[in-house]
Amino acid sequence: MRYEAPSTLDQAVALLVNEPGEARVLAGGTDLLVQMRTDLIEPVLLVDIKGIAELRQIREEAGGFRIGAAVSGAELKEHPKLKAIWAGVVEAANLIGSTQIQGRATMGGNLCNGSPAADSVPALIAAGAKATVVGRKGRRDVPVEDIMLAPRKLSLAKGEVVASFLLPAKPARTGDAYLRFIPRTEMDIAVVGCGVCLSLDRKGTCSAARVSLGAVAARPLLVAPAAAALIGSKVDAAALAKLDAAARAACQPIDDKRGTKEYRIKVAGVLARRAAQIALERARTS
Ligand SMILES: Cc1cc2nc3c(=O)[nH]c(=O)nc-3n(C[C@H](O)[C@H](O)[C@H](O)COP(=O)(O)OP(=O)(O)OC[C@H]3O[C@@H](n4cnc5c(N)ncnc54)[C@H](O)[C@@H]3O)c2cc1C
Repeated sequence: MRYEAPSTLDQAVALLVNEPGEARVLAGGTDLLVQMRTDLIEPVLLVDIKGIAELRQIREEAGGFRIGAAVSGAELKEHPKLKAIWAGVVEAANLIGSTQIQGRATMGGNLCNGSPAADSVPALIAAGAKATVVGRKGRRDVPVEDIMLAPRKLSLAKGEVVASFLLPAKPARTGDAYLRFIPRTEMDIAVVGCGVCLSLDRKGTCSAARVSLGAVAARPLLVAPAAAALIGSKVDAAALAKLDAAARAACQPIDDKRGTKEYRIKVAGVLARRAAQIALERARTS
């Protein structure tokens, strides 16, 4: 196996494109190395992207934030402005693993590992984040919800790398939140994850919303009917009941040792309501 650590994105793409065998991007390695150790995958080339400066930066852009795909969870948490503005996204990324994992794990790896239960993904989707993907044909911006197609299947072409995420400018009176449910108190995979972002008008009526669910289908979902349940309401009990029903209706979960289908569907509704209430509080005070 070959290990390369390029210093530019162009070099990384060229290495990945020109390798005829299985080539993988190495970010934090917290999924990749586990899969290699357990012989799930045997890449012939690893392209470490942590030495590429533009992938390690968090910077303000177009009123929002551009976050490099190789920024770790710990680095996200240490950015007070980002944390204050996109609290749900930073909280979601910081639910990943332990302190040790936080020092390595990236949102790029969380997305590109292709797990429907990845914690940061529903939060990014709810926030309306776009992934900037770079490949041999250049750059393209892709809504985060369009990157993962099914477990371990992405919409990326050979050699394409997720370079960064663009979190948009956050409108006034907007709040986001992410909640997950896990069987243990820490270090477990979500039974359900839910991200909500909502905006209020001057009278406190919800004027825009996005709701995303993880771990309840083959890919993280953007649930438009759940958002519609909130828009035009005061996010009161009636709207939350509609949100709960719409979130449950969107679920197509599996049965496994962490929860039955019925359990996951019920939890999805509960988490959607709770995440919406946190997002509402944040929108009111933002
Ligand atoms: C103990 C432990 C606890 C964990 N807990 C959680 C948890 O609570 N929640 C959760 O969601 N996950 C959890 N994980 C999984 C893992 O830590 C996360 O998915 C993490 O975000 C992966 O990021 P990484 O940078 O380490 O990715 P890597 O392991 O480096 O890469 C993962 C995959 O994505 C590809 N890849 C990485 N970056 C890019 C890129 N920029 N462009 C294209 N492809 C790319 C790699 O080739 C690889 O296939 C845990 C893992 C461990 C070991």
